[in-house]
Parts: sequence; structure tokens; C-alpha cells
Amino acid sequence: MGLIKKFKAKFLDNCCSTCGCRMLERRRQLYMLPMSVGNYISHKEADYYREQLQKVNRKADIPTGIYACGAVEYQCSECGRRAVQLQIFLPVRDQEKYEDTVWFFNGELDNFLWQ
Ligand SMILES: [Zn+2]
Repeated sequence: MGLIKKFKAKFLDNCCSTCGCRMLERRRQLYMLPMSVGNYISHKEADYYREQLQKVNRKADIPTGIYACGAVEYQCSECGRRAVQLQIFLPVRDQEKYEDTVWFFNGELDNFLWQ
């Protein structure tokens, strides 16, 4: 593995941290994260999200003032390693006010989006 690949793997969100190859989007799912506006607490533990996230079909299904979480599962095109990105935002009218992005690179949320 060359230096350039290592550099990419370290700094680009969409590159595999094992082999440096491109991570491709496999699945996307929207969730409600039951925390209300003004009471947001940042969490980094996969268990928290596994317990709290509630699947929704559309942003409109999330009550006003409650956070949303867009989850994306990526998979490396070369080695098959997976990563899950959670983007936490507050839907405000037709805008999305981004609060936090959390990544799980070590399999913590593999398969979660498919449940
Ligand atoms: Zn890889």
C-alpha cells in the first residue's frame, strides 16, 4: 500500500481504513432520535443508538423539535469492510440543521440498518 492510499484512508470519510479503497454506499435509512431541541447530548456509543433510534419512513414522521438521524452503511469495494455513518440533525421546516456526525468503523452497527 502506497503512501497516497494511506493518506486517503486516514483523511477521507469514504475510503476504507483497512485497504484505502473506495467505500460504496450500501444502504440508507432514516431514524428518529428521541431527543428534543435544546437538550442534545452527544453520544459515541453504538449501544446508545441501537437502543434509541426508531426507524421512520419520512422526515414528516418525526415530531417537531425532535432530532432525526440519517444512517448510511458503506462497504469497501475491495476487502468488504463495512462502516456506518450517522448524521444527526434537527429538521426545521424544509431545512436540516446538522448537529453531529458519528462514524462506526469496527462493525459496531453492521447489519443494524437492515433490521
Ligand atoms: Zn477495504
